[in-house]
Amino acid sequence: MMRFPVVLSAPSGVGKTTIARELMKRRGDVGYSVSCTTRHPRATESTGVDYHFLSDAEFISRVNQSEFAEWAVVHGKRYGTLRSEVQCVLDAGRHVLMDIDVQGARQFSASFPASVLVFVLPPSVDALVDRLRARNTETDAQLAERLRNAHAELQDVGRYHYVVVNDNLDLAVDTVSAIIDAESAKRGRVHALDEQVSELVARLEEQIARYMK
Ligand code: ADP
Ligand code: 5GP
Repeated sequence: MMRFPVVLSAPSGVGKTTIARELMKRRGDVGYSVSCTTRHPRATESTGVDYHFLSDAEFISRVNQSEFAEWAVVHGKRYGTLRSEVQCVLDAGRHVLMDIDVQGARQFSASFPASVLVFVLPPSVDALVDRLRARNTETDAQLAERLRNAHAELQDVGRYHYVVVNDNLDLAVDTVSAIIDAESAKRGRVHALDEQVSELVARLEEQIARYMK
């Protein structure tokens, strides 16, 4: 079975992280690429699990060593995907789930064209604001910046292969899971398809010869 990166992007607060966590609970064939960031950890977050929390100097040093498959400045902080994280999940035989912004998705899909790009939409702006406020992890100024960025991020929907509305969480997770299954069955992704078909053709020819006698 061929494994591939699955990129989830959405304005902050839509629910990417929540969807990613639920999907990982449900599917053993999906692993998460833990990103690096220079923002401070939230109370509920731990390093190496939610993010690798780095200083600016550490982040820049990793940029200079070409360790990132993509990186971008989002809401005034640096965020990036380590090549080693992606490779590690693929080597373990899992699809790589990535929660990255629209700039990162653009860079990443250029170097990993097999990636599946999924944009997650909120059911409404009111729901988005309610979710961000309920999460209670940003100041009002940070919240305003995230909403301003949401405005710009929405312009990028056209670059994505799939769109999922995160209204009912279970349904959104089901849909992302169905996208992974459908993409796995795409002809170009099926492992050793020519060999599989040749084998079937050879066995068929044997059976045809047998019944022609
Ligand atoms: P993101 O990773 O996109 O910034 P989060 O996953 O942190 O967003 O979700 C933001 C908030 O919205 C969290 O408090 C989360 O529990 C909540 N949330 C996520 N999905 C839903 C949903 N379908 N319905 C209601 N609340 C949700
Ligand atoms: P948060 O600070 O809410 O965890 O994430 C803020 C934004 O950064 C989200 O849009 C999220 O998708 C994005 N992000 C998280 N990790 C990465 C990454 O590795 N690369 C890029 N480009 N964006 C990321």
